[in-house]
Amino acid sequence: MNTIKIGWIGLGNMGNPMSQRLVHAGYPVTVYNRNRAKEEALKLMGATVASSPRLLMEQMDVIIIMVTDDKAIREIFTGDKGLLGTKTNGKIIINMSTVSPGISKEMAFLCNQEGNHYLDAAVSGSVKQAEEGQLVIMVGGNETILEKAKPIFEHLGKLTLLVGGTGAGNTAKLAINILLAFHAQGLAEAVVFARQNEIKTKDLITLINNSALGNVFTKIKGDAIIQNNYKAAFALKHIAKDLHLAKEVGLATPMGEIAFKTFQQAEPVLGEEDIIAIIKHIASSSEQSITNSSETH
Ligand code: NAP
Repeated sequence: MNTIKIGWIGLGNMGNPMSQRLVHAGYPVTVYNRNRAKEEALKLMGATVASSPRLLMEQMDVIIIMVTDDKAIREIFTGDKGLLGTKTNGKIIINMSTVSPGISKEMAFLCNQEGNHYLDAAVSGSVKQAEEGQLVIMVGGNETILEKAKPIFEHLGKLTLLVGGTGAGNTAKLAINILLAFHAQGLAEAVVFARQNEIKTKDLITLINNSALGNVFTKIKGDAIIQNNYKAAFALKHIAKDLHLAKEVGLATPMGEIAFKTFQQAEPVLGEEDIIAIIKHIASSSEQSITNSSETH
């Protein structure tokens, strides 16, 4: 039985399976989600629920956060019944969301002022890896505090790496997601090109998966394309957000600019679908340019 009391905030696609793993590992887990209905599944598994982040801060030893973006983090820390201002100290707050290095520095400063500790610990991997405890965890912050959190991370990930001071985990995650955006756009463009030239999608995906370019991403997202299943595991709006954050901290490379533009354009229509729904945007832009070029010839 693990005795460290864990408070978990954010039960979305990732937070739900991650917190479930900690319940299964025997930790006393108390959860909070803005939309309270999402707490039910965890309650059935044996977790307790709390009605606010403030209560978690008062009663738990470690608080883990897995929410959308900077705005959500600000609300959870500084909002009404937020984490800050509770007169508690020695608590460890771990932010596993993909957010800006700037907000981590700001929140870490406020936590430290109150005698509490902050780690940014972004993750690579998606829902499947979250369910299986196979995430890659990149941490920014103090090494001694990380050592205290490591036994928890062992139930969530296959690798935990300290990459620097506060915010460094967030920066590393943005770098990885730049590459993720290239992979998604690249796979989509290859499939669209092949289709236009009468190669069956299923055949192309089989070839890719058996070539040197095949990987977990091409397997999972290739299947999604074949099955026309764009239900979000990693919502397209999140990668649009991450490219935006990367741009704010200096992304200005040739492919970075293109991926940024592509995902920002796609987000208003496809934001709630999976990242690989970018193929719909690529297909329609490509059809549009073929139509335009045949009209001008
Ligand atoms: P998600 O399914 O969209 O869930 C988002 C969570 O954030 C929900 O619990 C939501 O609460 C909460 N939230 C949003 N705004 C909030 C606010 N203002 N105050 C309080 N709670 C708020 O997202 P996800 O896929 O789990 O991703 C979570 C984070 O992990 C994101 O930063 C994402 O970029 C990152 N990430 C995702 C993946 C992936 O494959 N999905 C992989 C690696 C990293 P409600 O239920 O009330 O809306």
